[in-house]
Amino acid sequence: MFTPILRVRETGDPILRQKAVEVPAAESRSRPIQDLIAMMRETMRYTPGVGLAAPQVGFPLQVVVIEDKEEYLRRYTLEEIKERGRKPIPFHVLVNPRVVAHAESRVAFFEGCLSIPGFQAVVSRYTTVRVEALNEFGQLRTIDADGWYARILQHEIDHVNGVLYIDHMESRSFTASQEFERYWKGKSTAEVCAALGMSLPREGGT
Ligand code: ZN
Repeated sequence: MFTPILRVRETGDPILRQKAVEVPAAESRSRPIQDLIAMMRETMRYTPGVGLAAPQVGFPLQVVVIEDKEEYLRRYTLEEIKERGRKPIPFHVLVNPRVVAHAESRVAFFEGCLSIPGFQAVVSRYTTVRVEALNEFGQLRTIDADGWYARILQHEIDHVNGVLYIDHMESRSFTASQEFERYWKGKSTAEVCAALGMSLPREGGT
């Protein structure tokens, strides 16, 4: 079956600022939601990205897809991968996801968003989160995540609540991607903060 790629909405589109609507458990197995999930999966892989929320493709629903592939990690050094706690995450679906618990500690790294193409910024996120969500079969699941996966979950759950990373970013670090590649890639967050004259985002507590 041909699965269309959807247009990714960019910042300024009001749908990215609305709280998305919950999907009843029984509805998550419906044909329209299954079709939406398939289109989101193809759009995320095509773009490519490691996560996508339904509002980003024009549907104000609390549906998220996540997948971090081994091949995406090849762009990074082993040190960068280890520092970020990044590991391959198989494709999965979260319906009505919410953070129900989190660590007090935070960690700050550059992150980007498909809806803010061409830019990145340092964002401080909780180091671990516990998330509850339905899967695509309407079953309640609890996820305990750390490392980069915890960051992806926080970023995507923000999307279904109308929040973008630019709401939390260290604004002095906001960087065009080509300048990121030129000046900041490979530097630790502490080095970036020192160079930009910013204090390191608080990592020890909230
Ligand atoms: Zn995003």
